[in-house]
Amino acid sequence: KAPSGLKLPSELYEPNRKTALGFDLSDEKVLAGLEAARAVAIPDAAPLTLRPATGPSCAALDPATGETIAQVTTADAATVARAIEDARTWDAPAAERAAVLRRAADLYEANYGLIFATLAREAGKTIGDAIGELREACDFLRYYASEGEKAAFAPRGTIAAISPWNFPLAIFTGQVSAALMAGNAVLAKPAEQTPITAAIAVRLLHEAGVPAQVLQLLPGAGEIVGAAITSDARIKGVVFTGSTETAQIIDRSMAENLDPGTPLIAETGGLNAMIVDSTALPEQAVRDIVASAFRSAGQRCSALRCLYVQEDIAPHLIEMISGAMDLLAIGNPFDVLTDVGPVIDAEAQSGIEAYLDAHKDRIIHRAKAPASGHFVAPVMLRVTGIEELDREVFGPVLHVATFRTTDLPKVVAAINAKGYGLTFGLHTRIDARVQEISSTIRVGNIYVNRNQIGAVVGSQPFGGEGLSGTGPKAGGPLYLPRFARPAEVPVVD
Ligand code: GLU
Repeated sequence: KAPSGLKLPSELYEPNRKTALGFDLSDEKVLAGLEAARAVAIPDAAPLTLRPATGPSCAALDPATGETIAQVTTADAATVARAIEDARTWDAPAAERAAVLRRAADLYEANYGLIFATLAREAGKTIGDAIGELREACDFLRYYASEGEKAAFAPRGTIAAISPWNFPLAIFTGQVSAALMAGNAVLAKPAEQTPITAAIAVRLLHEAGVPAQVLQLLPGAGEIVGAAITSDARIKGVVFTGSTETAQIIDRSMAENLDPGTPLIAETGGLNAMIVDSTALPEQAVRDIVASAFRSAGQRCSALRCLYVQEDIAPHLIEMISGAMDLLAIGNPFDVLTDVGPVIDAEAQSGIEAYLDAHKDRIIHRAKAPASGHFVAPVMLRVTGIEELDREVFGPVLHVATFRTTDLPKVVAAINAKGYGLTFGLHTRIDARVQEISSTIRVGNIYVNRNQIGAVVGSQPFGGEGLSGTGPKAGGPLYLPRFARPAEVPVVD
């Protein structure tokens, strides 16, 4: 199927296999380390909570196989009540807190084998994604450590941090480290699907020197733990990444139960678009489309959902994308060359497949995925425009529409009209078009002539507007101050 001349081996998706952490995936020692990581025993999360949790025991499952990898004792209402009671702010000087966070980053890196093994087995992360995730987590720790040393921050008190399964280490660590660096106490509730990764992170943070009462882990159900920590008046701030719907539930609960003005920092969903015009470099556009739509099995809120291709080049570009999809290696996340791993669980898989069943007449092309395990084969669907997308399908599903250049203002208006505003991609070599579209599109992150995933801490602060989040952007200079009490402003008569 791949058009002649187009070679898209899986290595191209990660052209820089030597990462910022210094791992070279062709290095034999690294390969031996990964081999050893497969055999790593995944620890039970129960002993890692502040005291034995008293809630029900839940199985942590491997998304590639459905096998149970560990049992986790979850927190119930009584566990949460004790944790809130015990929570203490972190009184150490800023320089000491920063040193502890930097030490934690070193410990994360030193434990990469255990972390990769857990990310692969608990979250179905490919090794390429696991490397990116570990790097991002360490970047958050070091970035907020430096930001926190620049000014004096007064803690708000106890912060509830609720994180998602799609970045169980990076987003978990980003939320927690910013809250800690401002001196707060943190109650961290990881996603139900990924408590073990969170438990390892908390263990390393404690080992680095974060006091146990300052950071407490509360694995458990959203309806129990999440509900309890967003409705207790002793909570002085909530940071949340997840669905727009859950953010709205949290917002209501906070308005009813917490002090007025308690901040909610929410990073939520997206219906992200990319526009490719006829001046774009096709090979580069195809590579970036495939990475944006299918990397991490499309389970990023930044992922490309709706591609607009200029009519004249559409048949050729769609054929190239189809060829590239056929070259994706889909399967075992532990295989170094796997491009796309499983989706997170059976429910996610059946939800995506039900959507595809309802839209089967629109399928242009579909790759092949392993028959067993929670895999979803990457798929491309034809639409007339983004207005036909009624919700964010969180998986490897790419919608494609065509446009004429005279319609561009309408396309931008349709994207803006969806109400989300997270990422947007543009492939063009016309400078005036870059200027015009980037000044009218309403999103948090715009990417020109590259893929639209994988924002880099410190240089590309990440976050959206509208239904995509409240801001401030994670990994940017305004994030940490939101976790601190606003400076006293003298009242002038
Ligand atoms: N920060 C990630 C990225 O830029 C996305 C985070 C998310 O999916 O929640 O791809």
